[in-house]
Amino acid sequence: MKKTDIVIIGSGMAGITAAIYLRRANANFVILEGSMVGGMLNQLKSIENFPGAGKTSGSDILISLMEQLRYNNIPLVYGNVQTILKEEDGFEVVTDVESYDAKAVIVATGISQISKTIPGEEKFAGQGVSYCATCDGNFFKGADVAVVGNNNIALEEALYLSNLVNKLYLVCPDEKLTGDQVLIEKIDAAKNVEVILDTNVDEIEGDDFGVIGMKISGKTIGISGIFPYIGKKSTTQILNNLKPEMKGIFVKANEDKSTNIPGLFVAGDLVDKKVKQLVTAAGDGATAAISADNYCKLLK
Ligand SMILES: Cc1cc2nc3c(=O)[nH]c(=O)nc-3n(C[C@H](O)[C@H](O)[C@H](O)COP(=O)(O)OP(=O)(O)OC[C@H]3O[C@@H](n4cnc5c(N)ncnc54)[C@H](O)[C@@H]3O)c2cc1C
Repeated sequence: MKKTDIVIIGSGMAGITAAIYLRRANANFVILEGSMVGGMLNQLKSIENFPGAGKTSGSDILISLMEQLRYNNIPLVYGNVQTILKEEDGFEVVTDVESYDAKAVIVATGISQISKTIPGEEKFAGQGVSYCATCDGNFFKGADVAVVGNNNIALEEALYLSNLVNKLYLVCPDEKLTGDQVLIEKIDAAKNVEVILDTNVDEIEGDDFGVIGMKISGKTIGISGIFPYIGKKSTTQILNNLKPEMKGIFVKANEDKSTNIPGLFVAGDLVDKKVKQLVTAAGDGATAAISADNYCKLLK
């Protein structure tokens, strides 16, 4: 088991900001990421409300953050956290590869936009089912693919893919598209995009090699890739042993980002709060870092 003072879980805007603040406080900590470094930043194609960044994208902000991690000498450690156990003098953070003994934990795991609700979605994940057009779009050059959803991410991913693929089906569960007007106009103008409104995908069909179609209203439409963006899922299963106070899928936090469990801090989208944005995720990360550092110093 590795020993440290503070474990940060998640490397989205909240977790990375917490790491920068902890490094500046000269704290002993580790930042764990179980999937894609940057979290939601990987999917935000257009950002116009992050102060000082002008018109930018999530990947541009992520490049700057990675550079900031590099010159602050903060290594990102792979580790998909399975659970957190309460110990007499702190916590044991259990990942799929290693366990960490820590005095305090900052949970910054966000909210998963993926809820694996379509039959066949889980079975063909990575074999034609993808959640990141920028990462996987190239595999589908010239093919027919589908995007499922009705939020800005779904619309942006559809537009990105439409420049690569032969035909793109945008399957929307609602009667009309409700994302930003400028995105809807671009979708309307894209010649190879067919919007299918008020419809759900009943099943993703495939064979030994991956996705071959999607079943809609009893008919199969041939596709070789599908990008579902429906539903939100909590990332707080890792807190099931600690049972902090929750409101729905969100964790209740005090102003200093502490929870009702001493030593457990939260930051970012998984916090029960009104405004869930990059700027508030960064604010939470900074606050949680300072609070966790003070907490550890008081224990000494
Ligand atoms: C459609 C859409 C558009 C948006 N547009 C904007 C915008 O224009 N401007 C803006 O400011 N905000 C925007 N937002 C909001 C913004 O994306 C979020 O508020 C912000 O990214 C949240 O950051 P976070 O660090 O809390 O979580 P995330 O970015 O979700 O990071 C969480 C990280 O934790 C990791 N993780 C999860 N579970 C585990 C585990 N068990 N073990 C290890 N790691 C784990 C994940 O892999 C991920 O990397 C948008 C959101 C959506 C859905």
